[in-house]
Amino acid sequence: MAAVPTPATPALPTDLFIDGAFVRGEGHAEKVLNPSTGEVLVAVPEASTEQVHKAVSAAHRAFDAWSETTPMERSRMLLKLADAIESHAEQFARLESLNCGKPYARALGDEIPAIADCFRYFAGAARCMSGTVANEYLAGHTSMIRRDPVGVVGSIAPWNYPLMMAAWKTAPALAAGNTVVIKPSEQTPLTTLLLAQVAAEILPKGVLNVIAGRGPSVGQPLVEHPKVAMVSLTGDVATGRKILQAASSTLKRTHLELGGKAPVIVFDDADLDAVVEGLRTFGYYNAGQDCTAACRVYAGAKIHDRLVADLSSAVKSIKAGLQDDPDAEIGPLISDRQRNRVASFVERAMMAGHMEVTTGGKVRAGGGFFYEPTVIAGARQDDEIVKREVFGPVVSVTRFTDTEQAIAWANDSDYGLASSVWTADVGRAMRVAKKLQYGCTWINTHFMLVNEMPHGGMKSSGYGKDMSMYALEDYTVARHVMAKL
Ligand code: NAD
Repeated sequence: MAAVPTPATPALPTDLFIDGAFVRGEGHAEKVLNPSTGEVLVAVPEASTEQVHKAVSAAHRAFDAWSETTPMERSRMLLKLADAIESHAEQFARLESLNCGKPYARALGDEIPAIADCFRYFAGAARCMSGTVANEYLAGHTSMIRRDPVGVVGSIAPWNYPLMMAAWKTAPALAAGNTVVIKPSEQTPLTTLLLAQVAAEILPKGVLNVIAGRGPSVGQPLVEHPKVAMVSLTGDVATGRKILQAASSTLKRTHLELGGKAPVIVFDDADLDAVVEGLRTFGYYNAGQDCTAACRVYAGAKIHDRLVADLSSAVKSIKAGLQDDPDAEIGPLISDRQRNRVASFVERAMMAGHMEVTTGGKVRAGGGFFYEPTVIAGARQDDEIVKREVFGPVVSVTRFTDTEQAIAWANDSDYGLASSVWTADVGRAMRVAKKLQYGCTWINTHFMLVNEMPHGGMKSSGYGKDMSMYALEDYTVARHVMAKL
């Protein structure tokens, strides 16, 4: 890949954004690290409970006027926001790569365009909602459907794609006429704090508020606040459960995007080179810290051995590196804790005795939280490595004997977010896709997302839809208005 010039480290934003003003957090100062070196980048003081309440009150006050704006007016502002993100693309990409350890070129080339496009998509979508036509369904009465905003949305985001998750959450919510208080992950607040600086020039005060901090001290009071009408979370299943419990006392609407453990079914007639290239990319992108990562491979009996051999040598060639290394394909894991978690999954798999690490399987020596891209062969359906989300650069391969078994194993999971089928037989691909209990099934590819199509899960992966018209529906309430004539 050609070298991408990296700008100098921009100023690191640390202020919260509440009611149109930048304010210093009054709570605990959370250290924000550079995962490539383990060094502290900056400390971000988190919001006090009082500041959480102020942010919600500001969003609540702003709601009336914001929800009265026309779709065209909101659309214009979201388009401006998209333009502003693009004009600050290098700054955003630099901060994201510093804070997450991602290669800078990937953050700039892959993520920022998709983020700007998300705001543009919802700018257009807000003007194009459609549905049931008004009619006299009861004689002498005209009925119509409205889709109105819910109110104040409390959004809580994870650390793997901080700015992308902020876009997925704020763009549809704002487009639909809601106001938002968003809390990025305490580990990766920087780009969402920068987003506030950019949005401050465009959105009316109180419409978007950004509060940094940890889950229990900042996320919890946000979720519990009686004036928050809806909570949207992307995060762990355990966090989803906590949020549902906290939201239950005030019966809030919830939008949950939780983990995943994507099955990849490879039939004997699949194009082996395409499968290997796909798995090399889609199993390890973002160091595997992706809820759709192609991490659980089921290979047909005839293709299995060649797949393991070719995949292992392909994965061995994945280049991990520092953010500014133009050849780096992946970076480190987000934290030492996450790396230890990944390493312990691999250690336990090795202790089982019947599995083999065909490449990787080790912590990379030196600074930073790097873990070698890893392939585990010989995994069985009941193995922990097949069942649980690792959220790291680890792919397991399991041999299957017939189609029914592959479908049953793929569906035998608590998760239901993403899946893929690889075969030259389009009929088989469609039959298998129909049977898979996943929010998304790709055929002869994996991981590809577009803003026009929904992303979201089934089962323990949650039920909120991000992107697409379905997200706009999730962030609005269907209401019936009936007039007696
Ligand atoms: P996490 O659940 O630990 O944290 C997510 C967010 O929730 C953070 O902002 C955290 O501060 C907050 N939080 C934690 N406890 C809370 C509480 N009690 N109340 C309110 N907020 C609380 O998840 P993570 O480790 O940041 O992210 C990794 C997880 O996210 C993985 O399981 C991954 O699969 C999932 N994920 C899912 C999707 C998807 O689209 N389905 C996308 C990305 C990540």
